[in-house]
Amino acid sequence: MRPERSKKPSGAAGRTTQGHMARKRFGQNFLNDAGVIDDIVRAIHPLPGEQLVEIGPGLGALTNPVVARCQHLTVIELDRDLAARLRKRDELTVIESDVLKVDFRQLSEERQAKLRIIGNLPYNISSPILFHLLPIADRVVDQHFMLQKEVVERMVASPGGKDYGRLSVMLQWRYDMELVVEVPPESFTPPPKVDSAVVRMTPLAEPPTIDPNILEELVAVAFSQRRKILRNTLGKWLDDKLLSTDFDLQRRAEEVPVADYLQLARLAAQARQD
Ligand code: SAM
Repeated sequence: MRPERSKKPSGAAGRTTQGHMARKRFGQNFLNDAGVIDDIVRAIHPLPGEQLVEIGPGLGALTNPVVARCQHLTVIELDRDLAARLRKRDELTVIESDVLKVDFRQLSEERQAKLRIIGNLPYNISSPILFHLLPIADRVVDQHFMLQKEVVERMVASPGGKDYGRLSVMLQWRYDMELVVEVPPESFTPPPKVDSAVVRMTPLAEPPTIDPNILEELVAVAFSQRRKILRNTLGKWLDDKLLSTDFDLQRRAEEVPVADYLQLARLAAQARQD
């Protein structure tokens, strides 16, 4: 089934797609461009027998071509009306829930397999979803998510640029990430106000052993004043913890590679145990 195209670039009010009124509070922007959908499905490359889970299937723009390739798909949808439509289909297992309440570790254990997680995410909760999934990265093959392009650029950014920040460090220590498809607003009904992009996130096979809470704390401190040298921010944090290190505090937070932050996180964790 070819999803219908947006005829005029206006808001959602008063317009229905396949008889459904887009709900702004659920971040509903439905994909309508067959070419873009095809690019995304090819990037995902679903195969029969794989355990795919889709977050926010909506009206099925991705669901339909994906399930045609992998034969069965688990979908997580919060909108009661959309979930009711999806439940009519035998090839789908529908979890009607807020994705942030879904226990993905348990899901993976039930399926006795690592999961491939996909979704055109509701943009208002995209970062909470990424952080909900971070602790179960060991149970994941890969993740393909549509997000605001600006967010994807921050996720994949290298040190030294304006996009490199907390999100880059907090995800790059655990995943390999790449931007795989760029998507303009007119590919959705209703069109969002921002450009979008699909990111592929592949958990590192041998992740470093660190305490993510400590990493999060020190990265928040470091980036609290990202244009200043680290002596006054991170330097003070290290002094308070009586940590001595040869870490170069003459740099700005945005110049420090992920590996250097990891080294500090390990040192801080060690100090806590002593
Ligand atoms: N996949 C469809 C597409 O590409 O056309 C819809 C994508 S739309 C951007 C986001 C979808 O996520 C909607 O179907 C919305 O109802 C659903 N959603 C919003 N918040 C959710 C939540 N907390 N948990 C699960 N699904 C949610």
